[in-house]
Amino acid sequence: MIVCKFGGTSVGDAPAIERTAAIVRGRLAERPVVVVSALAGTTNALLDIAAHAAKGQFIVAIRGIEALRERHLAVVDELLGAGEEAVEVAADVSVLFDELAHLTEALSVLGDASARSLDAVAAYGERLSSPIVAAAFEQRGIPAAWVDARRVMVTDGAFGKARPQGDAIAEAAREQLLPLVRDGRVPVLGGFIGATADGTTTTLGRGGSDYSAALFGAALDVAAIEIWTDVDGMLTADPRVIPGARLIEHIRFDEAAELASFGAKVLHPSTIAPAVQRSIPVFIYNSHRPQAAGTRITFDAPRLSVRAVAGRANVVLVNVKSSAMLGTPGVVRGIFSVFERFKLSVDVIATSEVSVSVTLDDDLHLDAVLNELRLFGDVTVQRGRGIVAVVGSGLGAHTPTMARALAALGDMRVHMCSLSASAINLTLIVDGDQVHEAMRRLHRAFFEEGA
Ligand code: ADP
Ligand code: ASP
Ligand code: MG
Repeated sequence: MIVCKFGGTSVGDAPAIERTAAIVRGRLAERPVVVVSALAGTTNALLDIAAHAAKGQFIVAIRGIEALRERHLAVVDELLGAGEEAVEVAADVSVLFDELAHLTEALSVLGDASARSLDAVAAYGERLSSPIVAAAFEQRGIPAAWVDARRVMVTDGAFGKARPQGDAIAEAAREQLLPLVRDGRVPVLGGFIGATADGTTTTLGRGGSDYSAALFGAALDVAAIEIWTDVDGMLTADPRVIPGARLIEHIRFDEAAELASFGAKVLHPSTIAPAVQRSIPVFIYNSHRPQAAGTRITFDAPRLSVRAVAGRANVVLVNVKSSAMLGTPGVVRGIFSVFERFKLSVDVIATSEVSVSVTLDDDLHLDAVLNELRLFGDVTVQRGRGIVAVVGSGLGAHTPTMARALAALGDMRVHMCSLSASAINLTLIVDGDQVHEAMRRLHRAFFEEGA
């Protein structure tokens, strides 16, 4: 058994869904379970619709819904033609859009955009795409069986970034997916979406379909998790920033996880953990070029000094300075307990005898957090920073990598720097608007200048 996940561009229109069907047909012997994203751009459009509704701009919201309805029905028409099946699917799609219009109307009356409502709206993307893809598969001779992902992906109620409940998912997957696969069917589910035990719709956070695929894969103990996307695999940098970025054919789990955490959007940062737990290899492939080699992520890739660079903006740097830290046990724990209480995850940490600096990737509740941190010393905040990361297995003290990275950045201001003892990730905090330039300089130094 394998899991194949197709991202938004791989199901973005009728020709893309045709390609996806051909890929799945070629893998029937491996007994695939298919996970799909929303049609490209749909989740953004849905969140816009919710935002307009919450501001009371109901007409704008409805116009957005009608544009999405038209697009989805056109895809159904192009894929399924005019038969009975097509009429049924089109009717189901229309019912979902009617439901969405009612929900949007309610939000506009209430002026509500709670995380719970946003999840309910955002989930329509995958609730629409998955039955369309399943029907297209069936019409092309693939014995597909659509499954509502919310019956399998059981999560807690942390709307917007719900946490999956592993045991409940494993049980649901065994009950609802295994019998289908044993029967020779191909289950097709939406990624990204889930539901609480009492049935309220949730989502795993943006880009979460990769995570869904890994969770279903772990629950079913599959032989491989395949992530099908719009690039050839994991590359030495984001090709949108560095067009000459090169394919990484084989990479270690820990390196891939670091890259994903620090900006390599090709993989959702949480994807790796379930795969590691079960030692399931993860592959990244290009659905536009299914014959290409792709990237293989496993435990045993050869160690390379530098694998890739990544980066992301919108980072907040917080520094707490206090001479009381000197020789006083427990201060650092106290500082981190503040972040824990506000459920803020800290990405990069650097300390000195009298200060602790951390980066956060969102500034939710920041004012309240800062107030509590002031109990420990002087607090300064720098918004609008960015992180660039150099990832590889040979960044330790015995290699010239660190010196080379800093030399490559030249006159660029580095606000903070961190290299963990495991030495697979060198992170540098720069100005947010310098992230791309920093990535270009680092990529040039490590991958272009005769490296
Ligand atoms: P999907 O919709 O298939 O999930 P995403 O847009 O989420 O696709 O992820 C694919 C994109 O990730 C690529 O188009 C690319 O711009 C971006 N990306 C960022 N860093 C990397 C990297 N190191 N390697 C490959 N792609 C990357
Ligand atoms: N459709 C969701 C998003 O755009 C999930 C995904 O594509 O992975 O964030
Ligand atoms: Mg993605």
